[in-house]
Amino acid sequence: MRRATKYGVVHCTMTDWDREVDIEEVHRWHVRRGIQSPLGSLSGYHGLIKRDGSLQLGRLSDEIGAHTPGYNDVSVSVIMVGGLYHKSGAGDNFSLPQLQRLGTVVSYWKKLYPGIEVLGHCDLIKGSKCPCLDVRSWMVSIFNNIKSKGEP
Ligand SMILES: [Zn+2]
Repeated sequence: MRRATKYGVVHCTMTDWDREVDIEEVHRWHVRRGIQSPLGSLSGYHGLIKRDGSLQLGRLSDEIGAHTPGYNDVSVSVIMVGGLYHKSGAGDNFSLPQLQRLGTVVSYWKKLYPGIEVLGHCDLIKGSKCPCLDVRSWMVSIFNNIKSKGEP
């Protein structure tokens, strides 16, 4: 069981923007790499946000994940499907429903883990392109907007 949650880490599947991926597929990728939950949860991530914005659960929320080496024991994670363009490679190509769902997930994390810092995989691991989204800037834009509407 995870004792501390300092970070919420956002990842992406690094798959083409027009291809849907589900948690079972990511689970198979992880099993192939020898990543498996002792509890039998799917994949090393705590959740996956599909292109259509729906959320699928992976590890239990307080289970230690397998997603960001060196930070797994102090972080919770979510993976967004996408992040690749066919021709130009890595890029921010997430759908509006995905970003809306990410906002919902982050709001939940903020309630569950007060003081949590939400960032991208690449903010913790130098040289990573994942999640192809500037999470810090996105956090400022989304959560400042929410504040200005008078919501918590
Ligand atoms: Zn990642």
